[in-house]
Amino acid sequence: MVVRGQDIREAARTLGLSGRPLCVHASLRSFGWVDGGAEAVVDGLLAEGCTVMVPTFSWEAFAVDPLPPQQPPRNGADYVAVPRRRPGTDRIYTPEAMDLDRTDMGAIPAAVLARPQRVRGDHPLMSFAAVGPRAEELIAGQEPLAVFALLRALSAAGGAVVLMGVGLDRMTLLHLAEQDAGRVPFRRWANGRDGRPMMVEVGGCSRGFPHLEPVLAPLVVVGKAGHSVWRVFPAGETAAVASRAVKQTPSITRCDKPACRCDDAIAGGPILTGSEEPYTKCKVKNAKPALSAAEGCKVRASVGSTVASV
Ligand SMILES: [Zn+2]
Repeated sequence: MVVRGQDIREAARTLGLSGRPLCVHASLRSFGWVDGGAEAVVDGLLAEGCTVMVPTFSWEAFAVDPLPPQQPPRNGADYVAVPRRRPGTDRIYTPEAMDLDRTDMGAIPAAVLARPQRVRGDHPLMSFAAVGPRAEELIAGQEPLAVFALLRALSAAGGAVVLMGVGLDRMTLLHLAEQDAGRVPFRRWANGRDGRPMMVEVGGCSRGFPHLEPVLAPLVVVGKAGHSVWRVFPAGETAAVASRAVKQTPSITRCDKPACRCDDAIAGGPILTGSEEPYTKCKVKNAKPALSAAEGCKVRASVGSTVASV
């Protein structure tokens, strides 16, 4: 079976997705053979008037080790492990960057990220990128300490999360549900605009998310494009229902791995005092795709009182 753009459009129409903003988590392989590959999937959705938002995580390029005051307890992190020189040490993320954890993200995020008109969030490790009529509106709120803002925007816009041949363990929206249930998101580290490590919010372990299947089953609409099973979840309702379930039964998100960071998440996430987050938000104008630390924002004006001295 060959899947063509027309089949993508038809699947979108059948599932009521036309004209809506979507967060897409997809396995291109699940489709079988797609004529035109990932591009054809994105084009098909755009032709239906959808806005297509995808995860474009970039841990491999931008993660760094924490400074000593940036190591809160209950953070699902092993601070004793020998620090290693990470590839991100000399780099500063900007939304113009093209880096992507290609193995984890797959072909469709890579296709969206490569489009010149795409908009990418301001988060060095867990950005999303979007194309389509409402791309700017969805992405605008994402910041290092507001990692899931764009999923809130998706909910507010009546959007949906579409799982294309992947499971609930890929649904980032469920991390938003955890936060809404009262959990503080884990902190990890990447260079700020001033070239020094800053703390950024990230999602935790998602291997236990499939336990939410029975809770979310009443919300899902199922369709198909080629061999790919599409499952459509209304974003707002899904986050609300999942959040209630997490509040009621916190252990529902626990995965099978013993001593996983799941445990810290279930206990409430990192314990923050507010003094540990040098968070520089000086915008770099006309930023190059990858600034070196030396080229970064040397002016520490406009960083305000949220910057701790280290
Ligand atoms: Zn886990």
